[in-house]
Amino acid sequence: MNIQDFNITEHSDLEESYKKFIRQMSNWYNGGELPELAGQDLRFALELQRQKLQSLGLDMQCNLKNTGSPEIHVGDIFFNDRIFKNSFIGGNMNMTRSIGSSQSSLYENTSDISLSTVIQNLKTDTRPSASVALCCPHCGAPSTLGELESSCKYCGTKFLMSELYPKVMNFFIYKKEDRADNDAKNKRELKKYLTVSIIPMVIFGIISNLFVHQTPIMIVNIIYGILGGILAGGMIGGLVFGFKKLFETLALMGNSLRGGGKIASTLLYANKIKKNDPEFSSEYFRDKITSLFRMAVYSKEASELACCKCRCPEKAADIIEAQLYNFSITDCKIKDMVCDVDVILYLDCLHYNNGKIKSKTDKFKMRVRKHIKNETDLSFSFAAVSCPSCGASFDARNVKACPYCNNVYLHEEHDWVITEIR
Ligand SMILES: [Zn+2]
Ligand SMILES: [Zn+2]
Repeated sequence: MNIQDFNITEHSDLEESYKKFIRQMSNWYNGGELPELAGQDLRFALELQRQKLQSLGLDMQCNLKNTGSPEIHVGDIFFNDRIFKNSFIGGNMNMTRSIGSSQSSLYENTSDISLSTVIQNLKTDTRPSASVALCCPHCGAPSTLGELESSCKYCGTKFLMSELYPKVMNFFIYKKEDRADNDAKNKRELKKYLTVSIIPMVIFGIISNLFVHQTPIMIVNIIYGILGGILAGGMIGGLVFGFKKLFETLALMGNSLRGGGKIASTLLYANKIKKNDPEFSSEYFRDKITSLFRMAVYSKEASELACCKCRCPEKAADIIEAQLYNFSITDCKIKDMVCDVDVILYLDCLHYNNGKIKSKTDKFKMRVRKHIKNETDLSFSFAAVSCPSCGASFDARNVKACPYCNNVYLHEEHDWVITEIR
């Protein structure tokens, strides 16, 4: 990975792609076509998600609106690999997500969010080989770069390189704490705490002054009682409020630091993998495991997917929307060039259970495997692979052997597959 200063002239292109992707996603979430800009893994995950929602009889609508401040942050970090340049670009917007069944509305939430994307583009001086397997952006059929440039075998569409790239590899949605809202909420809470502590203390003050410290003038007793009550009540109310806020802040910090404590082990193991597979990067890996997790939980039967060698655990089977918040690598074993990696995914998910939709912060352990005798094929996707024996291209997402020559296709020899989810 190379971190370099961002080249100013490329900002506008990236912004254009970003805006286009947002429009396509909006359209997709409102029943439209698959976003053309989405990379192959992301497309597949989105397709599986829609199938799952349909089979559950749910309709998910998602409206993305500009918040008025059309802020787009073009990341000042991007990472290069042999062929691609991957940029991180995000913007602020307002998202209303509503989910309903045919009878009723089950969930509605409006939040200010930041939506970030990883946009992959070709490096200016590189050109991937014509044999790179790639899906037709128009009909989705498996093909190769060379074929798509002359014309798709299935739908006949012809593509320019500029139409095949850039691609969006991953997207992240972070909800924002609304500060103005929070301030108002704090003021209301403080008032409530003060009132409930001051009133009893004032009553207690009056009573105790009337009967305990008898002075000749009753009104003085009452005034002392009131003043003492306000003072004591105010102090108690303030203290209780302060404690509550402190705990809330700590809980919030714990929430936003999810996975933060494991940065050292993540870096250590990422480095270990990189020593064996020079093309490996934690960014590439992050986007890969996000897609794998989404595919596994969105699919009807995870073990039928080529990329998944295990079943989806029950606690994850009711997930209908998964957003990665953070991840950490907790272990990595390499034996005979088979690399087994343990990761923890920290996610924000929507679960659908017993007719109800719940938003949860989740943590799942996942083990992934890849043979690292071959260097990572950076544009690889199971949606369009070329058979190592006969060279034919086919969609390997749901088949275990080449449909042309019947040779067993070993998925973990080409890309990461899931071997366990807990
Ligand atoms: Zn096509
Ligand atoms: Zn074959």
